[in-house]
Amino acid sequence: MPGFDRPVALERLEREEFDVLVVGGGITGCGVALDAASRGLRTALVERDDFASGTSSKSSKLVHGGLRYLQHHEFRLVYENLYERQIALRNAPHLVRILPFLIPILSKDGLLNAKLARGLGSVLWMYDLTGGLRIGKVHRRIKREAAVEHMPTLRAANVAAAYIYYDAQTDDARLTLTIARTAASRGAVVANHAGVTGLRKNGAGRIVGATVDADGTTIEIDARCVVNATGVWSDNIRAFDEGHHRNTIRPAKGIHITVPWNKVRNDIAAIVPVPKDRRSIFVVPWGDLTYIGTTDTDYEGPLDDPECTPEDIEYLLKAMNLVLAEPLTKADIAGTWAGLRPLIAGGSVTEKTADLSRRHAVVTSASGLVSVNGGKLTTYRRMAADTVDAVVKAVGRGGKSKTKRLRLLGAYDSPPHDEHLARRYGILAREILELERADPSLAAPLVPGLPYRRSEAIFAVRQEMATTLDDVLSRRTRARLLARDATSLAAEAVARLIAPELEWDAARTASEVSEFRAALVHERTAAGLPEQALDESIGA
Ligand SMILES: Cc1cc2nc3c(=O)[nH]c(=O)nc-3n(C[C@H](O)[C@H](O)[C@H](O)COP(=O)(O)OP(=O)(O)OC[C@H]3O[C@@H](n4cnc5c(N)ncnc54)[C@H](O)[C@@H]3O)c2cc1C
Repeated sequence: MPGFDRPVALERLEREEFDVLVVGGGITGCGVALDAASRGLRTALVERDDFASGTSSKSSKLVHGGLRYLQHHEFRLVYENLYERQIALRNAPHLVRILPFLIPILSKDGLLNAKLARGLGSVLWMYDLTGGLRIGKVHRRIKREAAVEHMPTLRAANVAAAYIYYDAQTDDARLTLTIARTAASRGAVVANHAGVTGLRKNGAGRIVGATVDADGTTIEIDARCVVNATGVWSDNIRAFDEGHHRNTIRPAKGIHITVPWNKVRNDIAAIVPVPKDRRSIFVVPWGDLTYIGTTDTDYEGPLDDPECTPEDIEYLLKAMNLVLAEPLTKADIAGTWAGLRPLIAGGSVTEKTADLSRRHAVVTSASGLVSVNGGKLTTYRRMAADTVDAVVKAVGRGGKSKTKRLRLLGAYDSPPHDEHLARRYGILAREILELERADPSLAAPLVPGLPYRRSEAIFAVRQEMATTLDDVLSRRTRARLLARDATSLAAEAVARLIAPELEWDAARTASEVSEFRAALVHERTAAGLPEQALDESIGA
């Protein structure tokens, strides 16, 4: 696809002048680039690491209204989220899917607590009426037997009944990447592994661009407006502008674990309560695995690479084992991921992060830096539209947002036959099949036991700007999240496959493998997890 080539982008960033430069290639920044490019603004985006390498690859992967926010009476927020969910389902049918959820009503003796059931029923009616109904399905109550059929591992004696309601799920990293590629197809100049190291100002103190480091080379970018969409790193960019760190972001850590699906056997997602914590955790089927999360804890450690700790794991296993007949153990955990929510700091530091609003805010500094903070994966489009409205005001050109009806690259009316490819690439699946026709060996699995194919790694480096082994195995495919140790074993073969494409010599290939493996060992040991035998890691 023209416009998604890193060397060409780096050269254009140096040479051209832009109306807007977006800093940060998470879902928010990519959304802003798409909105701006589709309004006809000359748009650039730079991402320090890889697209979605921050929070946007580490979410619960739900495009949802947020049932929980109704507890905080955030009706407007839920309404807006559900409105955006509907737009996402329409504009990215290949990437965003309706997902039914089971909410078991639990009791010690299996008897229905009528008050609890009525309370939950009212919340679900509110959810449906606030906008859930747009999906065309309404929640319903089901009996214990039907609930246990959806998740046969539940301790049946403790299930009194259940509700089913509907939300949607996505692959967050692929959604982010697809938005970036769609922005490029609309003219945006986009580069990953290119980090902003400073802002450029004119004599009057107005921001007129940024200094970027890419592969050790400094690039000066000219832009009439700069958007700061760096999530939890937002205050760092503001510090380039204002000279001091504001602490406007209160990061909240959340982790997930994956376990073989056959340990849970849920045919739909489930919501499991965490006693004494007013929270619930999601239990979501993902191919041969099920992922479980999340936690929500205040975080004060380094913003790069937050870790999943033994306490985090303990929290999730404890909650699960209260409802499962056969307990899950650490040895069942095939993968983990930890992310930081970029929440806007509230008034009180004693306020729990779980209670901080998921709203977003757009602020423009005196020198013209437009910062967009907070929000959710689900609301990226709305956040982008609000942000670009501020850009349009600053640069005096560009009309109204056009993204409400803008379909993302690969969107289809009827899906291609290959379901695995259809859900990841949409109609662009034909390009992967083309690679396999030309070289049938590329149809072989990339990581034994996972559905990804060798062709996808080639496609990732040729068409999706993957430039490291981790880009391919963590975000273009999600192999690392799904089966850490199996992926570590396959890393060398994958590196050898992509090395000629990326012109890596033997030394670079070896260092990619050793760095990737070292990161995986660190991830596992920090979480206090045992190494997995290969055949146990995937729930075949
Ligand atoms: C555990 C967890 C679960 C969640 N679950 C959900 C969910 O199910 N549904 C939902 O809607 N939302 C969910 N969220 C929220 C959602 O994931 C985030 O709101 C969203 O991903 C934030 O995206 P972002 O683009 O603002 O930030 P990020 O994705 O963090 O992007 C910021 C980017 O800026 C880059 N950057 C930083 N400094 C620089 C620099 N100097 N130069 C260039 N680039 C730079 C970073 O590398 C990073 O890629 C969840 C969040 C967490 C933590």
